[in-house]
Amino acid sequence: MSLPSKLQFESSELFRMAVEQLNAVAKRIGLDAGILERLRYPRRALVVSVPTVMDDGRTEVFIGYRVHHNTVLGPTKGGIRYHPEVSLGEVTALAMLMSWKCSLMGLPYGGAKGGVACDPGSMSQRELERMTRRYTAEVMLFIGPDLDIPAPDLGTNEQTMAWIMDTYAMTQGRTVPGVVTGKPLLVGGSAGRRDATGRGLVFVLSQASRQRGLALKGARVVVQGFGSVGSVAARLLWREGCTVVGVSDARGGIVNDRGLDVRELVTHVKEGGSVVGFPESEPVSNAELLELACDILVPAAVGGQLTVHNADRIKAKIVAEGANGPTTPEADEILDDRGVLVIPDILANAGGVVVSYFEWVQGLQYYFWRESEINSRLEELIIRAFNQVTALAKRERVNLRTAALMLGVQRVAQGFQLRGFYP
Ligand code: NAD
Repeated sequence: MSLPSKLQFESSELFRMAVEQLNAVAKRIGLDAGILERLRYPRRALVVSVPTVMDDGRTEVFIGYRVHHNTVLGPTKGGIRYHPEVSLGEVTALAMLMSWKCSLMGLPYGGAKGGVACDPGSMSQRELERMTRRYTAEVMLFIGPDLDIPAPDLGTNEQTMAWIMDTYAMTQGRTVPGVVTGKPLLVGGSAGRRDATGRGLVFVLSQASRQRGLALKGARVVVQGFGSVGSVAARLLWREGCTVVGVSDARGGIVNDRGLDVRELVTHVKEGGSVVGFPESEPVSNAELLELACDILVPAAVGGQLTVHNADRIKAKIVAEGANGPTTPEADEILDDRGVLVIPDILANAGGVVVSYFEWVQGLQYYFWRESEINSRLEELIIRAFNQVTALAKRERVNLRTAALMLGVQRVAQGFQLRGFYP
């Protein structure tokens, strides 16, 4: 089957990967051809100009996107990404992955994603605020508490969500906490949301490593990316007794064979903005970092990191995908053949969207839960999904990614069947 060239998405490697995965799963579950055709396209996609006055007085026009993949199970949900390589193809692929992730976790959402092609690291807070407010105004008709609910992703954070909520609120004349999740606690955020993606990843990893006969205590861990997902995963794994031997961020990596003190590393990053230069560590490149000798590798930065070029040199026994799409289908096959257990993104990093769902429910009811309650509900949902995925993988003799996608795609397809065809 050819890619949908009429929408010119094929320039995105991530979109190629997402469609390839969907096609393979469709074949395996005998998906109705009409439903497959519908799932290969987003339901709606919006491309906007985001003119922004920069601090030096220039006007710069950034390009922004918001894509809803499908709305069959409910309103759409997905992050907003600020990164120079954001494109319509990438955002569309990530929206599709969000559909499978929400459905796999049993959440009443379809998938969405958004983003602005920009380099947030080189922009001031005032520039970021102006750009975010204008982007929000441009996608205003596309978002809303029962339409589409954005959240943070690569390059965005709680502050970004607060600006989006405030801009939306100004047009409605009232505060609408349900319009975004991942907000600061004081203005409608949820306890536990900040750590949720990393915490979910650790819940899944502890189950998977137990099944592999690998104790987390003493396991050697490498984490690529030290942002919202990577730093939390590293900190929680370190607290579980893992030896974190290497971490990296966009500026480079560091390694210490005897283990890094992650609590001190978090302070170092808060002060200096990067893991680079941490005392008692040696520098390492991001490419070398992925190939370090370890038990567990957590890619938690950007997509397309494990490829046909390095998959045969990955030494980890378990790869837990904190990032979305870090492994190409070719690398997946190589890792599979070599017996490396890959815990796929739609399961390993689903903790974020689960607690986002809790935040949305709390915001709609103006009734907020305790953190212990949130963490235990997260654990329950994520372990339920893990057990369903591993049982199906065993029954069908497939890897965890295929099993997770089979469950995710199947439930969306059942939704289409139940709702019927409009008109
Ligand atoms: P973030 O912006 O908070 O952190 C990203 C980290 O990766 C930073 O340390 C950055 O320096 C580093 N990085 C960027 N480019 C890199 C490169 N080329 N090599 C190495 N490091 C690099 O972003 P985040 O929210 O932690 O998101 C990371 C990944 O996790 C993304 O793929 C995102 O889609 C995915 N994800 C995030 C969430 C969430 O709740 N934030 C949920 C699910 C999935």
